[in-house]
Amino acid sequence: MKKIKSRFAPSPSGRMHLGNVYSALLSWLSARSQGGEWILRIEDLDPQRCKREYAVQLEDDLRWLGLDWDAGGIEDARYVQSQRYDIYQTYLDKLTALGLTYPCYCSRADIMATQAPHESDGRIVYQGTCRPDGTPERAAWLAHRAASCPHAPAIRLQVPDRDICYTDLHYGAQRVNLAEACGDFILRRADGAWAYQLAVVVDDALMGVTEVVRGRDLLLSVPQQLWLYQLLDLQAPVFAHIPLLCNEQGQRLCKRDQSLHMGVLRDRYTPQQLLGLIAYYAGLIDRTTPLSAQELIPLFDWAHIPTHDIQVPASLSDLPHSTM
Ligand SMILES: [Zn+2]
Repeated sequence: MKKIKSRFAPSPSGRMHLGNVYSALLSWLSARSQGGEWILRIEDLDPQRCKREYAVQLEDDLRWLGLDWDAGGIEDARYVQSQRYDIYQTYLDKLTALGLTYPCYCSRADIMATQAPHESDGRIVYQGTCRPDGTPERAAWLAHRAASCPHAPAIRLQVPDRDICYTDLHYGAQRVNLAEACGDFILRRADGAWAYQLAVVVDDALMGVTEVVRGRDLLLSVPQQLWLYQLLDLQAPVFAHIPLLCNEQGQRLCKRDQSLHMGVLRDRYTPQQLLGLIAYYAGLIDRTTPLSAQELIPLFDWAHIPTHDIQVPASLSDLPHSTM
């Protein structure tokens, strides 16, 4: 059997918080419990938000936690997305050669005007406004739009009305219609930035990633990614999504929750206490016991991780630590 290779792919746009540590831990445990490798990819596609110093700090936090990586990190340009633009261009060119891409001149306001956000999660499905249909009328209209567009166009991938079926290792069988749920999606944004979907597929494939463990908020990006794998003739990994960590209001933990970022957590806990706490919330142990990352490897079991989102107390003082 092929050796498992998993990855952690954070965006260095701030200090790691509890939710990031939880994702990193589960992905690391899944890889290590199968004797696999774990790589660290820096997803710094957004130059406005991402900073090198955050990536350096993130690596320091991972070391403090005892989550070691076999390849990657900020010092290795092969694993840093901002150093890989030429590669993404090559793959965009392949899709263009297949006749499947087109320029989109729409502003965000244009797109909002044509479609109400999805009720469930606020996503906007693009209605194909700029998609060519082979008629001279539309070609003329698009040429007019191109001439009057004040910025470079975004590049979109045309998707068919087709169901994508796959099995998530944790959430089971999924069936999603590409046209209905995703629509023609962006490969390169109008500001020239590479879109997440293309970069992540190209990177996971070229880096030999066999297993992707990440938050279930990304479950709906799988159909788009699988479609790209198919078009580009690349080997897709196994996907294993994990429940999200939420506050008491049911909102996903995010960087705004200052009390749960690594600066505060490192002052408050030892690595073993923090990992024990996360393992407890993830269902791997039945009480909060301090344990090292290495000690958690034999305790990792997908069957114990819930599929519903996991609520954690917003205030650290409320976190259970009686057994620590
Ligand atoms: Zn458009």
